[in-house]
Amino acid sequence: MTVVVVGAGLSGLVAATRLADAGFDVMVMEARNRVGGRTHGIEVAPERWVDAGAAYLGERHTGLVDLLAELGLKTTPTDMDGASRFLLGGDGDQTRDGRFPPLNAVALGEMFDLLDELTRQVDPAAPWLTPDAERLDRLTAAEWAAEHLTHPDARLFFPLFLGEMMAAAPADVSMLHVAFYLRSGGGISYLNAFAGGAQESRVAGGAHQICEQLAADLVARQPGSVRLGEPVVAIEDTGAGVLVRTSYETSSIATGSYDAAAVIIAVPPPLADRIEITPRPAPRATAATGRGSAVKLHLVYPEPLWRDAGLSGWSVNAGGPLLSTVDDSPAEGGAGVLTGFVTGREARAYGALSYDEQRAAAVDQASRVFPELPAPLDFHLTDWVNQDYSRGCYAALFGPGDWLALGPTLATPAGPSGRIHWAGTETSLEFFGLMEGAIRSGQRAADEVTEQHH
Ligand SMILES: Cc1cc2nc3c(=O)[nH]c(=O)nc-3n(C[C@H](O)[C@H](O)[C@H](O)COP(=O)(O)OP(=O)(O)OC[C@H]3O[C@@H](n4cnc5c(N)ncnc54)[C@H](O)[C@@H]3O)c2cc1C
Repeated sequence: MTVVVVGAGLSGLVAATRLADAGFDVMVMEARNRVGGRTHGIEVAPERWVDAGAAYLGERHTGLVDLLAELGLKTTPTDMDGASRFLLGGDGDQTRDGRFPPLNAVALGEMFDLLDELTRQVDPAAPWLTPDAERLDRLTAAEWAAEHLTHPDARLFFPLFLGEMMAAAPADVSMLHVAFYLRSGGGISYLNAFAGGAQESRVAGGAHQICEQLAADLVARQPGSVRLGEPVVAIEDTGAGVLVRTSYETSSIATGSYDAAAVIIAVPPPLADRIEITPRPAPRATAATGRGSAVKLHLVYPEPLWRDAGLSGWSVNAGGPLLSTVDDSPAEGGAGVLTGFVTGREARAYGALSYDEQRAAAVDQASRVFPELPAPLDFHLTDWVNQDYSRGCYAALFGPGDWLALGPTLATPAGPSGRIHWAGTETSLEFFGLMEGAIRSGQRAADEVTEQHH
């Protein structure tokens, strides 16, 4: 019995592997010419890789930790030794130990308390049933901040925090989504922390290896089971099965046609809505659903030179493009890499510049944040906002009204015979938006299919 999986990101490949383990034949259709989706590696020096997409994980990401162990992949701790640099204006321009910004601690503490309180109110199993869900889902995070954050330091820091956590501009997300996201990721303290938190380590050699290995294993077991450069354009639930149509990248004409017992659609919700599904299921996105906005930059040095100056490479900046930087140098040596994050509104403005302007702006800012560093040897830029088969990251952003409209059917099988299943990190109520959410969603979708067809 054949199952088609749409998308060779983490969720799709985890689902396909689990189905293959359960005895199904699988066909994974991937639009891009590579696997991995929102995980992607860049070789910054010979055999030295950095993550252009997802990078960080923590010990509560148990699905990911287990998967890494199965694949024989190791992790490396995120290097945070040394002082942080802050360029937040006025007294906020400082070099100091730790990650707490040189802003009014009481104002920031109150902001985090308010956020914590909201986070605890969320119904983690059904966010749309949260007490006061309707009001919270209508309210944007910008409106919430205008109402609740009176101190200028809290108003300054809130968008930086949302940018770092969710790659979101406050005007683009509902407050219910913010509270849900923080809850689903294990709470603010866990999500935001390096040591002991969600950013504790990285996959040594790059997270892209996970999907590459999963795909290679699948192809070894079932030759031809992962098809690249073949986007799915239409799916029909015939009652007795599903008919999946694909097109090749260079053509807009449907050129492939596959019969299967079931299909798992493992792509971000706004992309799922671009597939012509018959009969039409409940919408996966609305006009308010946004793109997480992040451009990831890598500034490459001969070695992590900032460590010589007692710095961690971590910085937080009120002005862009680099709103934050972190040391992502390969643990084996051979290069020093500062990763810069351009998020939220900054990412969209930055994406509109020419490559030369983008490079000049990033290098110029790095020289202001870290005047002790020479010019970088190399520069890499990955703009996820404008990639056709991601349309943003870290995850889709649920705008005003989205949780109430979309939440109840996000993971519910569709079609007259329930043969259309949904995966992808945005369908996971646990660790939504993260690699862990993608893995859990793939496992859940595969189990649904197995239960239905065995
Ligand atoms: C810059 C960045 C930083 C991040 N940081 C972290 C982090 O530190 N830690 C963390 O845990 N997570 C992080 N994430 C999020 C993480 O990458 C995602 O949650 C996860 O990879 C999503 O996996 P997925 O399978 O749900 O979706 P995707 O990876 O998006 O996979 C979907 C796949 O479907 C394909 N596709 C789309 N449309 C079609 C179609 N019509 N037909 C066929 N194929 C199609 C796409 O090309 C893609 O390969 C980050 C993401 C980015 C981009």
